Amino acid sequence: MEKRISSNASVIYVNGEFYSKGNAKISVFDHGLLYGDGVFEGIRVYNGKIFKLREHIDRLYESANTLMLKIPISRDKMIRDVIKTAGKNRLCTYIRLVVTRGVGTLGLNPFLCPKPQIIIIADKIQLYPASFYKNGLKVITVPTQRNRPEALNPRVKSLNYLNNILAKIEAVNAGFHEAIMLNSYGFVSECTGDNIFIVSKGVLLTPSIYMGVLEGVTRNTVIELAREDNIEVKQIVMSRHDIFNADECFLTGTAAEIVPVVECDRRVIGNGQPGPMTKKLIRLYKNLTNTAGV
Ligand code: PMP
Repeated sequence: MEKRISSNASVIYVNGEFYSKGNAKISVFDHGLLYGDGVFEGIRVYNGKIFKLREHIDRLYESANTLMLKIPISRDKMIRDVIKTAGKNRLCTYIRLVVTRGVGTLGLNPFLCPKPQIIIIADKIQLYPASFYKNGLKVITVPTQRNRPEALNPRVKSLNYLNNILAKIEAVNAGFHEAIMLNSYGFVSECTGDNIFIVSKGVLLTPSIYMGVLEGVTRNTVIELAREDNIEVKQIVMSRHDIFNADECFLTGTAAEIVPVVECDRRVIGNGQPGPMTKKLIRLYKNLTNTAGV
């Protein structure tokens, strides 16, 4: 049942129905809450148009498939419902799409949860301060390793972010905003909520998805934009040494977009300023977000 609300207040989609913020609720027996059993997406809205919606929906269904979580509606219906939710929240700039395992027993068994829950929140995004983009970020590598793909593949965008949260705690405790996470072999994987790129001798490099990274939608978009601009792109096995000696470095993510990185583990990267290829890709990305979307 849709509650009557003022035109600018947000309405939240829960299993096909719309509720006001205060009335959008799920059960305390939901395994999304009890075990982090579920999947999600963060999606941007630019000028009222949803950016890379199909890509986000595809990743959501792939993550769910790996977890044997059967989303009860088709991809096309999900796309329609996300668009509808955004339409009801005219000023939204960010969409959080969540599918939980649903209500079950207090035991782990996901097969005792008969009905996954779908939640769509279309709200505002908390942006990084402008200084991060202008001056670049200083980051550190942290002790907590990225999940091993054999344990929980980072390609699954699950509701269980404790691995990333531990790394974030370590970065913040050390006085930094962001952490670079290594995999169990000591190679670079990604940051707590962003992918990482470096530029070396004119080539754009990023850790391969087999290094234990989320296959970011922004990462794929940046690779595409670079290739269209005749920039060579390689997905590699990356070490800290590669970052320390790179000419440029930046992070990518739906919320963060493209953020320059100018220092890692107290080593200055390049000349300590956001580099020319980073700036060019930021420009190309901005152009795309201004024109693309549904
Ligand atoms: N890595 C992790 C761990 C993430 O959570 C995210 C999304 N915030 C990303 C990378 C970037 O992915 P995307 O570009 O699809 O937002």
